[in-house]
Amino acid sequence: MSTGQTMGVAILGSTGSVGEHTLDVIARHPDRFRVVALGAHRNAEKLAEQALRFSAPYAVLADTGAARRLEQILRSRGAKTRVLAGVEALEEIASLPEVDSVMAAIVGAAGLRSTLAAARAGKRLLLANKESLVMAGPLLMQTVRAGGATLLPIDSEHNAVFQCLPRNTVPGEAPAGIKRILLTASGGPFLDTDGARLAKVTPDEACAHPNWVMGRKISVDSATLMNKGLEFIEACLLFGVPPERVEVLIHRESIVHSLVEYLDGSVLAQLGAPDMRTPIAHALAWPDRVSSGVESLDLVKVGTLRFEAPDLKRFPALRLAQEAAREGGTRPASLNAANEVAVAAFLEGGLNFAQIPAVIESVMSTSSAGEIRGLDDVLAADAEARVRAASFIRPRAVHA
Ligand code: NDP
Repeated sequence: MSTGQTMGVAILGSTGSVGEHTLDVIARHPDRFRVVALGAHRNAEKLAEQALRFSAPYAVLADTGAARRLEQILRSRGAKTRVLAGVEALEEIASLPEVDSVMAAIVGAAGLRSTLAAARAGKRLLLANKESLVMAGPLLMQTVRAGGATLLPIDSEHNAVFQCLPRNTVPGEAPAGIKRILLTASGGPFLDTDGARLAKVTPDEACAHPNWVMGRKISVDSATLMNKGLEFIEACLLFGVPPERVEVLIHRESIVHSLVEYLDGSVLAQLGAPDMRTPIAHALAWPDRVSSGVESLDLVKVGTLRFEAPDLKRFPALRLAQEAAREGGTRPASLNAANEVAVAAFLEGGLNFAQIPAVIESVMSTSSAGEIRGLDDVLAADAEARVRAASFIRPRAVHA
């Protein structure tokens, strides 16, 4: 570690849901963790409060105008924090020598470059930004290996799987003896909603997740089951298992965060209250264990744990992601980009909920997969899918 016994941490996406949960855990352990850098998009006010509270040496906003505002706020409050602006500055703080661990918690494709920078710099990479793995999986895994980075999954499901695997597991390589990975899904707020009503649900209803408090994009992804689809792709890459050995189970209670079945019939699971501070604390302290502020699991109070198969007819986004996982190459990048455009359009009122998977399917059926030889291939597939998705959105009526 860079200074004494404390671990220097950079949080990319610090103003978001995962970012704030990370700061909550760090605040409980000033003897172990030290905030070195904070990064976000344009929320200058919240980033300033965080930088002041944690005496962060660096703060970055991708938006240059917002970074100027941040500079003014911090100077007026007498803070010594160095303010940087722009996308490159996020890569810079992910690579600082005084940073040991990088929490990659920017939402969407915007997190890709800084996630790759942390991997290249050989950091402990705490990966919440699942989109970067979905888009550029083989490239990111290769960069992790080449850079000597330590990859620790933050998504609660993958963190659960990681906890159920042998200690010496190599990222991207399935350990011997594994039969299947079982990913659990809460099912989101519309699990029992009639197919016809899905066209009428509002963004606020879609973002009201029954068990987890999260950012709006991932909340919509949870409601369409695309989140589970992205996690399906993520699981194949992180644990080196083919798609046919990953199964999705709807588990309404969100208590069993995922399971690993071994060849001898043993099934190991990780359980806990649905609170992101558990996987965050696990990854921050790994291989040690520290307190996270999460309440103890009261199984008597929970009473029943239910499991059921997902309905791919009402929630086709999961099927589309599974198909993209099987095809590989740039296919998942196209899926991710089409999803980001469709979700943004839904949140802005330009698309109804049921049209989200329809737009993604239109993009997928009019484009083909290419090989990933480098970042340019990923970015080209991403850009092309965004243009196509936008072209499918414009002519649609919201209340079709
Ligand atoms: P939020 O929407 O709550 O926060 C997003 C963060 O990303 C904010 O800090 C935002 O900054 C920043 N950001 C957005 N766009 C850019 C950009 N162009 N450049 C730089 N920063 C940007 O998201 P969540 O915390 O919910 O999710 C973050 C990631 O973690 C996602 O990939 C999600 O899938 C994953 N994840 C989230 C979980 C959760 O419980 N929330 C669980 C598991 C995974 P600003 O505030 O300035 O806009």
